[in-house]
Amino acid sequence: MNDKIWTIGRILKWTEQYFKDKGIESPRLDAEVLLAHVLEKQRIYLYVHFDEPLQPGELAAYREMIKKRVLRVPVAQILGEKEFMGLTFKVTADTLVPRPDTEILVQAAVDRLRAMAGEEPLRFADIGTGSGAICLSVLHYLSGTVADTVDISPAARAVAEENAASLGLADRITFHTGDLLQPLSGISFAAILSNPPYIPEADIAKLAPEVRLKEPHTALSGGQDGLDFYRRLANEAPAMLVPGGFTAFEVGIHQAGDVADLLKANPLIDRTEILPDYAGIDRVVVGWRKN
Ligand code: SAM
Ligand code: GLN
Repeated sequence: MNDKIWTIGRILKWTEQYFKDKGIESPRLDAEVLLAHVLEKQRIYLYVHFDEPLQPGELAAYREMIKKRVLRVPVAQILGEKEFMGLTFKVTADTLVPRPDTEILVQAAVDRLRAMAGEEPLRFADIGTGSGAICLSVLHYLSGTVADTVDISPAARAVAEENAASLGLADRITFHTGDLLQPLSGISFAAILSNPPYIPEADIAKLAPEVRLKEPHTALSGGQDGLDFYRRLANEAPAMLVPGGFTAFEVGIHQAGDVADLLKANPLIDRTEILPDYAGIDRVVVGWRKN
């Protein structure tokens, strides 16, 4: 960038071309989102202020963001936050960025837990909670629920705890650090939810650099065929459900049938459901425990 006066319109145009040259997938959108964040405005503001010059401090902050973006840091990590289910979640390099697909799991859980609501507060678990996106959204949209979360990463847990506090949900959630269901032994749940790591090890190399290089490997790898976590969950989770309770797992492309079969192989499960995402891909598998 040279020393000409940088207006909003000019810098957006420059950044769009620069990002394009560097192979960034959505160059214009990313430029706008980052600049709007620096200016603390909505994106629409940019369009009606193309001729407005940037202040030196704004320009410096924006430059730092551009540098990170061309190193393939995801936009959400640069901003330090991501919107999910209409709520704002802090994210860092230690947490998976919550994906829109995961909203299908949250919606499925909210609908089914709501239908179960009775006298007691309903207790559910979120396994591999990351930023806390799943369990905090369910807690936010469904009063009368309490949650236990587990993650193997203490750094992710710290982020989830911050999100619980900022969303005013800290008093309805218990955090555990450890391996899958192990920290929860002896507890019964109305529902056990999880978006576990599910990418087959050999496919990780094919992911976008933003994911492959900048998101935690422990959040992605599901072992050789991607199903390692489902095998363990399908085996162990049904015994930790109340009668009539359910498991709901997000799954990767082409995994739904296998995951439903793993659940059906557990004698405590009497039926499963498979739910598609916005793109029509089977994305969530629900397993119901016998009454
Ligand atoms: N629930 C978040 C979401 O949907 O955005 C994050 C999901 S991310 C795909 C999977 C999470 O599982 C990561 O936060 C990772 O640290 C955690 N994890 C990986 N192995 C685990 C294990 N053995 N026990 C518990 N959590 C684990
Ligand atoms: N949906 C993520 C991706 O495609 C993977 C998340 C997971 O393994 N659960 O990058």
